[in-house]
Amino acid sequence: MLKIQDFNKLIVANWKLNGSFSFTKEYMDQIRFKTIKNQKNCLIICPPVPYISEFKSSNLLTGGQDCSRYINGAYTGEISTKMLKDMGCQICIVGHSERREFFNDSNEIIHEKLNNCIEDKIIPIFCIGENLNQRKEGRAKQVIKDQLMASLPKDYSDENIILAYEPLWAIGSGLIPKIDEISEIHSYIKEEVLNNQNIKILYGGSVKAENYKKIIDLKEVDGLLIGGASIQIAEFKKILEF
Ligand code: PEP
Repeated sequence: MLKIQDFNKLIVANWKLNGSFSFTKEYMDQIRFKTIKNQKNCLIICPPVPYISEFKSSNLLTGGQDCSRYINGAYTGEISTKMLKDMGCQICIVGHSERREFFNDSNEIIHEKLNNCIEDKIIPIFCIGENLNQRKEGRAKQVIKDQLMASLPKDYSDENIILAYEPLWAIGSGLIPKIDEISEIHSYIKEEVLNNQNIKILYGGSVKAENYKKIIDLKEVDGLLIGGASIQIAEFKKILEF
């Protein structure tokens, strides 16, 4: 299992429903892990499932974008955590807001997926975050706490789970919270919700080359979950220079 506590900052690339075999090859040719490995940082690529195995010939780590709530059986179209492990994945994004919105992933389903990841030694990147209305109404912290309490597995620890704070209104929108607000939410989760356990928390939502540095330099931020900018190779290479 990936030893997440060995790393200073983690960058996770979420390709979403994008890519092709030729794009995967170009990506592997151009994105170098060495640059950041030396600094005790970690880069993990989450392409769509058909492209995951292609990365075996590179030294880039891979993860899934989602997994099944089921272990095996008659569930057409599903991919289990065991299968992700078989393909060489180290992590799996769970509870992404796009899964919650378009595929009805409830807190209960997310809880089951997180359990499957932990059981199969895949590190889940558990996504949480408020929508714009909840933020305007001053309920962001409560929403995040509720999401955590409803889905966190019983036997989670700072070695087997990573969180990603992704305000819904920031994902793919070009908007990001103020730097102080990111810091405040991360501190709130670490100190008040999780009682100072050493759980790593990534930030995600419209991270780009022009704004990533201030975010990743925050001591409360353990890394970045990057969607759109992670499939723009030139843009992503700039982010990997940190
Ligand atoms: C994401 O997909 O988790 C994400 C943060 O997307 P984007 O970087 O495009 O906002």
